[in-house]
Amino acid sequence: MFNAAEFSEIRSLLNPKNKIIILTHYNPDGDAIGSSLGLKHFLAAKGLEAEVVVPNDFPKFLKWMPDARKITIADYKRAKARETIGNADVIFILDFNASHRSGNLVAPWIDKSKGKKILIDHHQQPDKFDFVYSDISIPATCQMVYHFIEKLGEEHLINFDAAECLYTGIMTDTGGFRFRSTSAETHKIVAKLIEKGADPAKISSDTWDTNSISRMHLLALVLGRIEVVKNGEVAILFLTREELKNFGFEKGDTEGFVNYGLSISGVKMSAFFMEDLYENFIKISFRSKDDDTDVNQFSRKYFNGGGHINAAGGKYFKNLETTIEDFKKFVDL
Ligand code: 5GP
Ligand code: MN
Repeated sequence: MFNAAEFSEIRSLLNPKNKIIILTHYNPDGDAIGSSLGLKHFLAAKGLEAEVVVPNDFPKFLKWMPDARKITIADYKRAKARETIGNADVIFILDFNASHRSGNLVAPWIDKSKGKKILIDHHQQPDKFDFVYSDISIPATCQMVYHFIEKLGEEHLINFDAAECLYTGIMTDTGGFRFRSTSAETHKIVAKLIEKGADPAKISSDTWDTNSISRMHLLALVLGRIEVVKNGEVAILFLTREELKNFGFEKGDTEGFVNYGLSISGVKMSAFFMEDLYENFIKISFRSKDDDTDVNQFSRKYFNGGGHINAAGGKYFKNLETTIEDFKKFVDL
């Protein structure tokens, strides 16, 4: 958490004269959108206007969140996003640890901007920013935003909209309060968010009971040919570009597929390989269960990526078949 001196600087930065923006990572997920909008609604309750800017579009199942449709998507509104980032006095960097994680378009604008940068994030090895609150033991950036507000002494300003958004990010990044870093503290905060009006049944239904037919068909295909190697300890799933096109793939359709590999008895690590729709690379998701299987290190070493010990992503610039062959060579549990 920020120290006392940092807090007093941050307090003085949070005033209506300053242009405040909130940025998150490329391919924003529930925690990215939830923490960004949650913080925005808190700041609004404090009398401060903040603009949320994301590098590219995000899944439809997150668009129910209050003000989700007011988010500036840099991919679609380049000039506006560039200007907003360039003119910002204060930039919150939420749910990512290094400007390059915001993608090739936005990263240089962040690096050039003179705005004071405040990072709140739970990924490993954060870059240097003006203010850094980084904690890899916390399951969701939304929980960290809650702690930040708590430390500001302004929990009472977390209104219904903020509570819904923060709840959503904690729910999605903990896989529905199941993953390892889910703690008593997490549940205490979740309880407070429910007291502030967040409705667990409504939020999980709005977020998760929204499967498209294309997603279900893609899931059936992927599950039908799941492969388990290395004495039953490593699961491999994949999709080709052609399959994605044939099934009418929409953004977010394959979210969470990698977890099915991990649900097989005895499996310690799951990897999901997907050809990018437009460019010639393979997007990979890794998941694992314990400390001994550090997929962050694995992805950093072999697949140009990173993330957390038990959840990481990467990219590989060979064809799908070679990528999976190489993966089998690299993986060593
Ligand atoms: P996912 O598999 O859901 O895309 O990503 C899992 C986790 O790994 C997320 O926390 C995400 O931020 C991180 N991650 C995904 N892709 C990359 C990447 O290319 N580089 C880095 N450093 N982290 C990634
Ligand atoms: Mn997160």
